[in-house]
Amino acid sequence: MSETFDIIIRNAAVIDGTGAPRVRADVGTRADRIVRIGDLAAERAGREIDASALVAAPGFIDAHTHDDRMLLSDPAMAPKVSQGVTTVITGNCGISLACSPALSASIPPLDLLDSDGEWFRYPRFEAYRDALAAAPAATNAACLIGHTTLRAATMARLDRPASARETARMRALAGQALAAGAIGISSGTAYAPAAAATTQELIEVCRPLAGTRGLYVTHMRNEDERVLEAMDETFAIGRALGVAVVISHHKCVGKANHGRSGETLALIERTRAQQDLGLDCYPYTASSTVMQSGRAGQATQVLVTWSKPHPELSGKTLAEAARALGVSEAQAIERLKPAGAIYFLMDEADVRRILAYPQTMIGSDGLPHDARPHPRLWGTFPRVLGHYARDLGLFPLETAVHKMTGLTAARFGLQDRGVLREGAYADVTLFDPLTVLDAASFDDPVQPAHGIHSVFVNGEAVWVHGQATGARPGRLLHA
Ligand SMILES: [Zn+2]
Repeated sequence: MSETFDIIIRNAAVIDGTGAPRVRADVGTRADRIVRIGDLAAERAGREIDASALVAAPGFIDAHTHDDRMLLSDPAMAPKVSQGVTTVITGNCGISLACSPALSASIPPLDLLDSDGEWFRYPRFEAYRDALAAAPAATNAACLIGHTTLRAATMARLDRPASARETARMRALAGQALAAGAIGISSGTAYAPAAAATTQELIEVCRPLAGTRGLYVTHMRNEDERVLEAMDETFAIGRALGVAVVISHHKCVGKANHGRSGETLALIERTRAQQDLGLDCYPYTASSTVMQSGRAGQATQVLVTWSKPHPELSGKTLAEAARALGVSEAQAIERLKPAGAIYFLMDEADVRRILAYPQTMIGSDGLPHDARPHPRLWGTFPRVLGHYARDLGLFPLETAVHKMTGLTAARFGLQDRGVLREGAYADVTLFDPLTVLDAASFDDPVQPAHGIHSVFVNGEAVWVHGQATGARPGRLLHA
């Protein structure tokens, strides 16, 4: 007696996400699961796809996103599903929509999620979770709670360490969020609203992680001269609580620090022998965040991604914006704020070394609400597959896929995701290994990638033939 299948993907090069070499096979799904991988020549399904020229991979997991609001405001998630991404990790860099205060003024970097403040309306994690359940997105999501958000929700002034009472309040909010399904806590002490937080404040706010599988994920206090010191602080927080840590968008910023990824990766490798530790990286030499004079000073070039008072200058270089405003670049930064920018400040050799490090996951750090976003929003995953793996040979395609699937699912504790095997969820991306490549560029950043054939989330097609299908099968994932 034959089984019934909803979808059969025929004759694909199956790259299963574990790093194992590809095998040629058919993949059969039923409802939200993969039910068979093997020879299904005798079987029929309602939907059959000839994948003889395609790779079938687990849907990609974006390890580092700021998609908290896009899940609700643009649930088709086109920048993500067009790259083959089926799950996003939200709430990074200390900023989450969940547990947010009602904001009367724009607080950078919280304004990366919404410069008008209208979406800061989920005072408890449960409210955010319920909003997502009521109006699901195309992709799955697993959510971190941001320490900076907790500070803004709890403290009248952010330029000092939290008092014992404020720390207790943040710890309680974090504990409730974890109990309600958040997978961890993020911090962003590099940014002004959290810079005054002490190591002890971070440990105490993250205390509810102890004894759970939740993670501490951090945009570290420093990514330039004092990067090793910032790493030591990160490791100390993980050790104090006995929890896994993730270093976000690992990089070495500014010319004086170019080449130091050899040192930082050696420190990570030594520390991994003693504690649970991971990291993510995006495949570009330019970063992007809110407009900051410090970052601009470290960059060889700065591009304006958005500006509230001067939206017409989005896409211009800082030098062009300064000329248009008739002021110096330093004055232009102040005139443009609140604003965002792209900063060219990394070294290609560091980017390659960090990407190639076996524990490095791929995370886009894309900023979906920027007027002229960094191309990483639309290009990260196909760029790793096409440019770095295929064209430069930095690692095999199987390794590239592992860095965006199995490695990431294991790190974040996402059960039955990130692998193609019988019984796993049917999150599947079909791509052409010969043509897959990012199309988004700094000049033309809103461009779907090449070579992504079709994308399935929980057994439903969300992207086919270069179009979002409108299906919204995404779920909130718990660790
Ligand atoms: Zn960050």
